[in-house]
Amino acid sequence: MFETEKEQYLRTHGFGHTRLKAVLFDMDGVLFDSMPNHAYAWSHAMTQFGLHMTAEEAYMHEGRTGAGTINILAQRHWGRNATEEEIQEIYRSKSDVFNARPEAEEMPGAASLLNKVKDSGRLPVLVTGSGQHSLLDRLNRHFPHIFTGERMVTSFDVQYGKPNPEPYLIGLQKAGVQPWEALVVENAPLGIQAATAANIFTIAVNTGPLPDRVLTDAGANLLFPSVQSLCDQWEMVLETFA
Ligand code: MG
Repeated sequence: MFETEKEQYLRTHGFGHTRLKAVLFDMDGVLFDSMPNHAYAWSHAMTQFGLHMTAEEAYMHEGRTGAGTINILAQRHWGRNATEEEIQEIYRSKSDVFNARPEAEEMPGAASLLNKVKDSGRLPVLVTGSGQHSLLDRLNRHFPHIFTGERMVTSFDVQYGKPNPEPYLIGLQKAGVQPWEALVVENAPLGIQAATAANIFTIAVNTGPLPDRVLTDAGANLLFPSVQSLCDQWEMVLETFA
């Protein structure tokens, strides 16, 4: 069913075959419907400091480090990078707004997809730019027995973060697999760039307000309109990449 996309991927990267062993999952906008909260908090905090940012732009920067996002806006509005102090102040304000929002819901279809991956004998791995200490607790509460600390890449593990391939390269390493033995599930343009730069077949799920074109232009090999629709077609994906 997805043979054309697979063949194109193999040709582009010079790989001979796929043999699916691990699926690398982004978290925000894939496992949790948390992006509306992040986008609201970013635009609110930035605007407070005179750095005008729409919620839609926040979606474009999803996955970038906080400092990286702040400096892009600071360059545009102030013509200079933000100071370390300004970065801390803006990031604290963003976190305060974010933490005051109701906790994000599980993404519909995410739990069944994770279970299908696990039940098929493939390894689910988490690759997120997020770094709250409560992350593992929260993941275990919503998706019990899926992720362990050794199979997670968080902001504590990386130096550069997305769109650098680093987080996904570490994900492959933690799973002990090669790029052609993995798939990535991502919702953000920068995350897709990071995953394709790590030479992994990248499945985009468009769970936000950006046009599909933004995700395919970033390099997505396959696109689904939701996590649920990917879950519904998982058996066909598995058959293609097994
Ligand atoms: Mg995401």
